Amino acid sequence: MLSIRDLNVYYGGIHALKGVSIDVEEGQIVSIIGANGAGKSTLLNAISGMVKPKEGRILFKGKELPPAPHKIVELGISQVPEGRLIFANLTVKDNLMMGAYLRKDKIGIEKDLEKVFALFPRMKERIHQMAGTLSGGEQQMLAIGRGLMSNPDLILLDEPSLGLAPLLVKTIFDIIESIQQMRKTILLVEQNAYKALSIADKAYVLEQGKIVKEGSGKELIKDKSIQEAYLGKK
Ligand code: ATP
Repeated sequence: MLSIRDLNVYYGGIHALKGVSIDVEEGQIVSIIGANGAGKSTLLNAISGMVKPKEGRILFKGKELPPAPHKIVELGISQVPEGRLIFANLTVKDNLMMGAYLRKDKIGIEKDLEKVFALFPRMKERIHQMAGTLSGGEQQMLAIGRGLMSNPDLILLDEPSLGLAPLLVKTIFDIIESIQQMRKTILLVEQNAYKALSIADKAYVLEQGKIVKEGSGKELIKDKSIQEAYLGKK
């Protein structure tokens, strides 16, 4: 579904992605793990068109992506950015509807809204609440819900568990698996390596802008060097 080849991204003199190649098959959860500053957000931003690569190819369903973020959304890719970036002064409902702003199919939008409420009953209860007054975990749910409202085939999740208490982290990862069951494909970027590998069909390790390892989630969890560097085991 998504094929990235030899991607190079620079911020001025900083070479943030150095020849990154990854593949995401339809229906998979693919996780990218890596330390702070490894280039994880840059990779997602390059896919969603927010950052312009200097070299490399990004193919989605066999075709090169256009350089315009809204066109990329229309093609079926939705990004849930790090730090959630919800609209604090809008209600839950209005935030969700912002995710559907490029759509004209009213019936489809209503159906997807119901799906989001089924996934996050808490959002339905708080439909008229200002988003800025939601708790951190609720804001994360809202951001994921908004990402689903464009009815994407591929959803890019940037650190969805960041800053959440352990119980909520579990909830968020359970939800990611539910989204996969909704026949969506997921590219997940995470510092919570154990959780990200546990649910991944396939995973990549990004270090200083380079992919240094890839394999199934199960293989990488058993890998000694990954256990030491990312899973806190000796
Ligand atoms: P984190 O987990 O801390 O969010 P990350 O793996 O997502 O890290 P990126 O945010 O992609 O890493 O950053 C990769 C590198 O590029 C870092 O060295 C960062 O400082 C740099 N960088 C990111 N965005 C910019 C920018 N807009 N301008 C200049 N440098 C940037």
